Amino acid sequence: MAAPEGPTPILLMPLLGTTQVGALPDFSRDRFYTAFVGTQSRTNELLREVTTHSAEETIAFGRALVDLLAPPKLVLLRGDLGAGKTTLVKGIASAFEAAAEEDVTSPTFTLIHEYRGPRANLYHIDLYRIDTPRELDTLALDDLRSDDSILLVEWGEKFPRFVRERDVEIALEHEGENGRRIRIRS
Ligand code: ADP
Ligand code: MG
Repeated sequence: MAAPEGPTPILLMPLLGTTQVGALPDFSRDRFYTAFVGTQSRTNELLREVTTHSAEETIAFGRALVDLLAPPKLVLLRGDLGAGKTTLVKGIASAFEAAAEEDVTSPTFTLIHEYRGPRANLYHIDLYRIDTPRELDTLALDDLRSDDSILLVEWGEKFPRFVRERDVEIALEHEGENGRRIRIRS
């Protein structure tokens, strides 16, 4: 997708300063919000951008996304293998009280994991092994969409339909071994 025109988003504050040993940054604070990108259309507006430096920080960041991901949502999780998509879901699922972090595992072979919480039902979906629209149809993902559901889809960008229909896109990129740049677009 073309980069949005207009001013480049500027981080309001340095993202992660010196953190105490054992202390995680508080991603719920406003200082982690990026400036809005002017009057873009709904798609591709950069909402947040952050760099995490460990899996724990990515989980903490996922936990801070509860309000942004209030159901119903179709969320695309983009990034290479090992980028941290599943790790991020650990934080999201635990914040929604739908699953403990350690119970969130990759649905690479199972394709769909369902986590039911009091405020939302989360569906963590991995389309890495799904190649054709016909295979996709067999998953009947549309049946999972409802007012209280959040679909978190890894490799959903393989299918243009999801790129069009998604509410939120979260892209993760490696920055060195343990660094991950995470960008959220609406
Ligand atoms: P994906 O689902 O994108 O394939 P996973 O979340 O399954 O990726 O795996 C990410 C791996 O990278 C895990 O082993 C995790 O511990 C490691 N890791 C190292 N640094 C980070 C970080 N900053 N954020 C997320 N994961 C990280
Ligand atoms: Mg994964």
